[in-house]
This record gives sequence, structure tokens and C-alpha cells, in this order.
Amino acid sequence: MLVAQLLDALEGFHGEQVAGWPTDPYLFLVWWHCGYPASDATCARGWESLTSQIGVQVDRILAAKQATLAEALKPGGMVPELRAMRLKEIAERVAKEYGGDLRAGLGGLSIAQIRRALKKFPNIADPGADRILLFGGIAPDAAVPSNNPHVLVRIQAGRESLNYGRTYQRAQEMLIAALPPHFDARIRAYLLLKRHGQQFCKRTNPRCSDCPVAPDCAFFSGQ
Ligand code: SF4
Repeated sequence: MLVAQLLDALEGFHGEQVAGWPTDPYLFLVWWHCGYPASDATCARGWESLTSQIGVQVDRILAAKQATLAEALKPGGMVPELRAMRLKEIAERVAKEYGGDLRAGLGGLSIAQIRRALKKFPNIADPGADRILLFGGIAPDAAVPSNNPHVLVRIQAGRESLNYGRTYQRAQEMLIAALPPHFDARIRAYLLLKRHGQQFCKRTNPRCSDCPVAPDCAFFSGQ
């Protein structure tokens, strides 16, 4: 099945998807540390608590005591003290190195430099950098949902590699080959694959018997 057809089928089933997180690079870094294990649900809970109790602006996070930050982050799940420390690190770096405005500070850099700069922030590796670049409107990267890189690989090619990096790269290559380097197309693909991975194509115990694209899935037909 062509990737374009697959995405149409997923959208027909799941409906149009919208990002449920802040797309500004700095705000995404804050959101990402609002929950642990990081998921849409945990990060949204921590974000809501943080925004209502302290705020997410650089100066608010710098002014808050670490213990107060940790308390505000508790609804987001585990290790709130560590996440509070990371938020302080992020805010300090944005204040010192980017004059308090990460997006503006990244403005004069090449995409490769921006990627390197993003990866200096805690808990941001290539998948996180891809996501920030794409959703932040910086570069139309072929970002792949970091929890679900296997979804596209399974459907197109069968069982994924046990090596996470290889699976991520393979999914990325499939997206690059199939979709134009446009923000809309790649954001749509990211969100649909994410949703499908969350609802059906879980890493372990995928719900193949209920899956709407099972008849066209190489993983399913190879079982
Ligand atoms: S049939 Fe199974 S492996 Fe294939 S996409 Fe659906 S849930 Fe994933």
C-alpha cells in the first residue's frame, strides 16, 4: 500500500489529527518535562498544573524555588524533583545563551546548527529535535513519533528491527521517499502514525484483529 493511501485510510478511520502540545520550541521543551514517563496525558497534566501554579515563561521558572516547581510538576507523574531541575537548566540556558527567546536565538543558525543546539537540552535526541523542527515550523523534517517508529515499518515491510535507531531511520526513509518536504504533509503523517500506534499498533501486543489497515499490513500478513 502506498504511504499516501495508507495515510488517507488512517485519516478516514481516526479523523483529522491536531497536535496536543505547544509547538514553540521553548514551550515544547517545558511541556516535554511536565510528565514522566512522558506521554500526551502525563505531560498535559503536569503542564496544566505548572501553568496554573507558576507559569511557563523563562523568568517564572527561574524565579521559582526548585521545590515549588517539583510540587507543581507532581500531577505529571514520576521524578518531579528531577524534572524541576531539568526545567531550571532549560530556562537558565535559554536566558543565558538565547537572551530569553529560544526561537529568536535559533533564527540565524543553519538547520544542522539548530539540531545540534536543540540536542544540548536535556532529554532531546534526534527524534525530539526532528519533532521540534517540524512542529515549530523550522524545517519540514520527516519526524517520526518517538514511541511509535515501528508503525509505518510494520505496515510497509513487516516486523521491525529490535534496534530502535534502525527502525526510526527506516520509517524516516519511507516518509522521505513518499511525501514532499512540506510541513502540512509531514505533520499530518506524524500525527496519524502516532494516533494509530497509540490506539492499535502498540509496541507489544498490537491489536491486529481490530486494526482497520490489517488487510494491507505486511506485519499482519506475515504472522
Ligand atoms: S495490523 Fe497489527 S501490525 Fe499492522 S498496523 Fe495494524 S496493529 Fe499494527
